Amino acid sequence: MHRIVHLDLKGAPWKISYLEKVILSAKQWGATGVLFEWEDTFPYCDPLMNIGSLSGCPKGSGGDRLYSVKEVWHILEFTKLNGLEPIQLVQTIGHMEFVLKHSKYRDLREAPRSPAVLCPSRPGARSLVLTMLDQVLHFQPDAKYLHIGADEVWHTGVCQDCQVRAAASEHKTASLFLDHIRDLVLFIKRKRPNLTVLMWDDMLRSVSVDTLQQYRVGELVQPVLWLYNTIECFQIDPLLWQRYKQVFPNMWTGSAYKGANGSNQIISPVSRYISNHEAWLREFKRYGADISFTGIILTGWSRYDHYATLCELLPVSLPSLASCLRLLVKGDTDNIVSVVSETLPQNEWPGLELARAVHSFVAHRNRCLEFIHGDLVGTWLNPWQLERNFTNPVQIEGIAHNAQQLINDMTGLQDELSTHLHAMTGKRSAEEWLQTLLIPVSRRLTEIRNVAAVRAASEAGVRPILDDDDDG
Ligand SMILES: [Zn+2]
Repeated sequence: MHRIVHLDLKGAPWKISYLEKVILSAKQWGATGVLFEWEDTFPYCDPLMNIGSLSGCPKGSGGDRLYSVKEVWHILEFTKLNGLEPIQLVQTIGHMEFVLKHSKYRDLREAPRSPAVLCPSRPGARSLVLTMLDQVLHFQPDAKYLHIGADEVWHTGVCQDCQVRAAASEHKTASLFLDHIRDLVLFIKRKRPNLTVLMWDDMLRSVSVDTLQQYRVGELVQPVLWLYNTIECFQIDPLLWQRYKQVFPNMWTGSAYKGANGSNQIISPVSRYISNHEAWLREFKRYGADISFTGIILTGWSRYDHYATLCELLPVSLPSLASCLRLLVKGDTDNIVSVVSETLPQNEWPGLELARAVHSFVAHRNRCLEFIHGDLVGTWLNPWQLERNFTNPVQIEGIAHNAQQLINDMTGLQDELSTHLHAMTGKRSAEEWLQTLLIPVSRRLTEIRNVAAVRAASEAGVRPILDDDDDG
């Protein structure tokens, strides 16, 4: 069974030299392939220039101009030369924010206020997606697989055109989605008859067997049934397996090694992701005799969507990836401790220094937040007291001192994190990460330190009565 590692490059895309190291490590841990989700980091060229890394969008919509044409060729080839299957992923109907946010493609939205979903009825929608697929496939003349995404299509049949079409169709809104998918898969198959097309399964879950069979979806695609829950909350309706079994000769599954434990998490708890893989192993055991599982895609989300903030960075999540892969290779959950670890040896952990700095940052940030919202500030330097100058210099001195220490430590961490992030991913992502997570905390500490410094140098206050306090 394939074990494919998903690299979600729509958040903090890593420089190629770093991706190479990760790919080699993943192979050691048991990966058989890599799924590249480029999103806006792919070097789309004319007429799609403005949606990718070569873009005319301010400072490059792909961020730091990642990736170049040469780099994409290189990393796909590098993956293959190292005995791993490179698979590219292109979203083709949902999660199209990186395309539909541009005014040029505004008219192709299903719902005017949301750039997430492409309207499959709009003239131009089909040719847009086909051009994207064409450009991506161009980089892989010998591709065996292509993933067309197609998950989380939040709204279908919203616009006038779609409503009219749905009403006239035997399968109502399902036909809008299925017509679109069939159309583009047939296009791909005409160009590449031997290519296997994968898609996320969630939009198919509610479609009846009859409809799926009528569309011959089983001949068009191999679905990836994804579920990222821990084993305690992991449940796939046995009837869904029954239905899929009737339609699809081959099934894939989707697990998670990062980016499925909260949309703004910083750290990947290994046990949480291992639990998801334990659940999948249990599922393979239950249904393996009935269903042909071709592979599992270990997803590693970098953001929940194009507009969401970053979640766990790849270097931080490598112990989770290594543990999950080793567990899958082992194939059972006996003596699980032998394959699971929260850390990795130095020579097996690309980006170890950054991962360590992130862990130190999380611990330090907790100390800072405890201080900011803690008893000291709340008891002796709260807004009521500040407004009335009712403070005691000696106590405030302690607060100023503590704040200064926390600032000093944070500044050291900021330098370290900034150096690694700039070197490994680039300016745009480094700034996003630091300005989202670190700078706001530093700023608040500085405010407290500054106020405390003034109050510490002032005379002890006398319990005041302000004019406003006198309600008589
Ligand atoms: Zn529509």
